[in-house]
Amino acid sequence: MKPLNIVHLFPELLNLYGDGGNVMTLRRRCEWRNIPVQVTEVGMGDSIDFSSADIVFIGGGADREQLIVKDAMMSRKADLSSYVADAGVLLAVCGGYQFLGHHYAMDDVVVDGLGIVDMETVRGEGRLIGNAVVQSDISDIPVIGFENHGGRTTLGSGVAPFGRVLAQTRGNNGEDGTEGLRYRNVIATYSHGPLLPKNPRVADALIELALQRRYPGAQLSHLDDALEDAAHDTMEQRLIS
Ligand code: GLN
Repeated sequence: MKPLNIVHLFPELLNLYGDGGNVMTLRRRCEWRNIPVQVTEVGMGDSIDFSSADIVFIGGGADREQLIVKDAMMSRKADLSSYVADAGVLLAVCGGYQFLGHHYAMDDVVVDGLGIVDMETVRGEGRLIGNAVVQSDISDIPVIGFENHGGRTTLGSGVAPFGRVLAQTRGNNGEDGTEGLRYRNVIATYSHGPLLPKNPRVADALIELALQRRYPGAQLSHLDDALEDAAHDTMEQRLIS
């Protein structure tokens, strides 16, 4: 079996609030199941053949990092669009998520997006900061995370959110109750945390999608997540009560 190839885009710049932990979690949950896995870190000047990728991860970044990385990101526009059109699995968090849309309008600069998903982001007044609790179809228990963004994202009318906000969560824009998006095999969210160690069900959903793309019908074996679930439940109770 060829190793499952997790491609981490621009880890030196897009890696806020422990986002790299998402890649570690994907790798470890494969290793614990004896699924061969490799991580390919792609720097701004590196070339990458996305047809070899099984899961692509794009983390968050402050506006400053987004401005540094934008040209390197746009140079992969055609390749990333084809990867997503070919049912490639992609997880994008916060600043990485904002790159998937038409643009991110900061106060004085408009950063072009990849245009893979019909959505736009505009910087608003103040930041949306706090722990996040989101009800998503991808998990039978709420997804826990942490958000900190100035951009407000509005999804196009045909685009499904990742979930609906619960508790103090502000989500995509603090107004319409949506959080993140799902499009083909793309999951995007404002939740750092990092997301996947706190929500192993989301990690497994991504691994399963990636495996099934290569081996239709593939299923994951069960892992004992008692510790992860206990940590999750503590946070959920703290935030919902
Ligand atoms: N710079 C973006 C914003 O503030 C994204 C921040 C992030 O990735 N946490 O909206």
